[in-house]
Amino acid sequence: MGQAQCIVTASDEAEAGMQAFIAQGHTPMMAQYHWIKSQHPDCLLFYRMGDFYELFYEDALIAAEILDITLTKRGKNQGDDIAMCGVPYHSCEPYLAKLIRSGRKVAICEQTETPGQAKERAKREGKVASKALVNREVVRIVTQGTINDENLLDARENNYLACVAKTAGEYALAWLEFSTGAFTVQSLEMNSIRAAIERISPSELILQESTLSEMRDSVPEILSISNPQDDVFFDSSSAARRLEMLYGVSEIETLGTFSRAELTACACLIDYVQRMQKGKTPFIDKPVRTSSGQLMDIDAATRRNLELVRTLGGEKRGSLLDTIDHTITGGGARMLHAWVSAPLADVASILHRQSHIEALIEQSHLIDILRAHLKGVPDLERALSRLSLGRGGPKDLGVIRDGLAQAEIIRAELQNNMLLRDVFAKILSDMHQIPSLSDLQDTLFRGLVDDMLPALAREGGFVKTGFSAKLDELRILRNDSRKHIAALQQKYQKMTAIDALKIKFNNVLGYFIEVPSKKADALMVVSSSGSNPFVHRQTMNNAVRFTTPELSELERDITSAADKITALENSLYADLVLKTVQQSQHISAMARSISLVDVYCSLAYLAQDANYTCPVIDDSKTFSIIEGRHPIVEKALRKNNEPFVSNDCSLNPGQRLWLLTGPNMAGKSTFLRQNALIAILAQIGSFVPATSAHIGIIDRCFSRVGASDDLARGQSTFMVEMVETATILNQATSKSLVILDEIGRGTATYDGLSIAWACVEHLHNMTCCRALFATHYHELTNLADTLNNLSCHAMQVKEWNHDIVFMHKVIKGSAERSYGIHVAKLAGIPAQVIDRAQYILEDLSSKNAGVTNQTELPLFSPSSFQEPTYHNSAVEDALRETNPDTLSPREALDFLYLLKEKLRSPSR
Ligand code: ATP
Repeated sequence: MGQAQCIVTASDEAEAGMQAFIAQGHTPMMAQYHWIKSQHPDCLLFYRMGDFYELFYEDALIAAEILDITLTKRGKNQGDDIAMCGVPYHSCEPYLAKLIRSGRKVAICEQTETPGQAKERAKREGKVASKALVNREVVRIVTQGTINDENLLDARENNYLACVAKTAGEYALAWLEFSTGAFTVQSLEMNSIRAAIERISPSELILQESTLSEMRDSVPEILSISNPQDDVFFDSSSAARRLEMLYGVSEIETLGTFSRAELTACACLIDYVQRMQKGKTPFIDKPVRTSSGQLMDIDAATRRNLELVRTLGGEKRGSLLDTIDHTITGGGARMLHAWVSAPLADVASILHRQSHIEALIEQSHLIDILRAHLKGVPDLERALSRLSLGRGGPKDLGVIRDGLAQAEIIRAELQNNMLLRDVFAKILSDMHQIPSLSDLQDTLFRGLVDDMLPALAREGGFVKTGFSAKLDELRILRNDSRKHIAALQQKYQKMTAIDALKIKFNNVLGYFIEVPSKKADALMVVSSSGSNPFVHRQTMNNAVRFTTPELSELERDITSAADKITALENSLYADLVLKTVQQSQHISAMARSISLVDVYCSLAYLAQDANYTCPVIDDSKTFSIIEGRHPIVEKALRKNNEPFVSNDCSLNPGQRLWLLTGPNMAGKSTFLRQNALIAILAQIGSFVPATSAHIGIIDRCFSRVGASDDLARGQSTFMVEMVETATILNQATSKSLVILDEIGRGTATYDGLSIAWACVEHLHNMTCCRALFATHYHELTNLADTLNNLSCHAMQVKEWNHDIVFMHKVIKGSAERSYGIHVAKLAGIPAQVIDRAQYILEDLSSKNAGVTNQTELPLFSPSSFQEPTYHNSAVEDALRETNPDTLSPREALDFLYLLKEKLRSPSR
């Protein structure tokens, strides 16, 4: 005899779990709450009760505080009030957004049956129907990286979910734009993970606890976004198989060649998404493999310093991206964001991008036309993602319909222009290869009303007349029934001679006949012949309500037609969604092509509007910029009608390393940054702010500009400076561009000068990269005598009327002074301090004359520099020489007058 098998189902487990909580004294509903919450301890639980999502206990306290909503209570637990707060389910998104942004995860727990269904079930199970508790289940977990709700996302920014996997000592990073399905993976060395994470800037990162511990110190950014997962989810042996299943391929190789770590990262990421969506999978494109060699490496500090996509203050406004972004569509904006974050390092790909911009500029009349068409392109990718998760609505189908139609117009516009047809051949052929979308488009056009599509299918009224004969029939029936109501009202008005008789509707009574109280008596009369059809239903203050058999029958017809209409519309909607989702791959490809067109139009528009030029890009080590400008500062000045002073920069053999000296505020940092930004713009494929530019591919760009503390990591200003400098010296290659601003300023003069000196020598002799080095250590200019690739430049200033005028012009040679005290005066430092500083400066200069021009280390022998003698003021001298205990009151007063006198003539 076979052994009896005991299968424990999820519902058995839930039942047992709930019983345990009931045994602890909880009501059945709170027991259900506790059971579900125990399954999702790290989430705030949105527990659906009727029209609200309710939160209890600690969750309620947290949510009420974050959302600033009223905290109430519901019943007691072991004598204590149970805290509760709630948000309306139909408008929960702003609340959800706030909680997610504050770093919380939210589990959405829905009622999975109606109270009626719960009663039926209870009856079937032999339980008391009236006490039946509706089933509830968590239908999804909302985390920062897995949102696609329109209101929770910025349409113009990517929202990445990333996963780091470590397999056999190798690391890979996979990242998914959850709301569009764009999926990328890259193998990385441990020391380049930080730069990759800074580049992608994911909102959520999943990884193993052990990887988190490993990276905690070296990649501090991850602490706020990391979401460690159990080791079982990082099983590399089944990764390929899991991906094959997801993409429906028999061999993973058909998707491309991936390392084991890459496959693991991809599989873990998808697995996580499915767990968060409780088994549903949104549209996820096939993973695209990228490698470090294809991109310009920009480390975290450089990215921040150059303010590529955000300013140092964390604002989008004022960043490079903000300055150059003229995209129109959400998809285009997201693509440009990704481009700016990841400049290319491959000549052919850059020239390919350039060719599109050049072609558009040649056909400039088309830029405006295309941009006008792009205005009509809604966010195809995000609508598709919502539909694929069953979270969309008729409005999203409308987005697909209108987006595809608009895409067709754009495609035709490109196709009809001879020049663009050639240059945009790849995009056009991608668009051509997208088959069968016209069928879908046609179905959507026939199936959906033209405008005012509702966000949710349950709102109804979105299927176009003529699409379904059955639906049209039902609608006629429903509309006719309405006409019948009106006719019936007229009939009863005539019959009773009561003009004020009305047929009305409410949710409690349904349809009813209402007459004013004073006229109601006639209708109350019960006739033995049955000639009075009116049956009393309700007496109000001023009116009495009736029904009739005829009205009841009509009501039944209307209700059943309405129910049938809802059911049919829902099923037609489901068909349309299915048809649409089946074309996800093609729709997504079409959306990508449109985004590309948008980005090219945006860059072409920028080039024309801001007078940018097409840079020459090759594999040389050239760096020649003629009349370069800083894109952000130029734009800011332009708003105030102030001119930006352009400057040349040529880091070529014989002058590969520029040493830049000059006063504070003269424009050194601006000049340094502008050259790095020009290089980055050139390598994203854009035109650049200069009259001409020739740039040999830069493999890595480093910038160490300004000083900042990293107190969170326990690092002082100087430590941060040195860590960043170390990164540059260790990682820069002969193909890199290095921007160093004021190295060594955060420590004692000699230490700083020595470090700066040695750094210049290292970059010049060992790294042999192209570099710009700004400094106030004028002594360094003497290195030009010994370093043959070092060229000295200075910011031009003019002295006028004891003042200096900043010309913002970079000239050959070196500055004699820093004019720091002058800038301090401009900044409002008190006059006495300025005078004193001037005095000290003169003293120091005279004492060190002859020292500063040493050309060889040691720069100064320790004895050659003495601490400055501190010159006390006359007031201080007098005070020091006086003993107050020996003064009479009169003498003290006289002394006070003396001090005042000395103050008036401070020198003596
Ligand atoms: P510090 O040594 O004090 O850091 P700096 O020499 O690096 O100063 P910047 O910060 O680059 O000076 O520039 C100071 C200001 O001068 C900028 O904010 C900008 O407004 C203006 N400026 C700089 N360069 C130019 C230019 N080429 N044309 C017009 N204005 C400029």
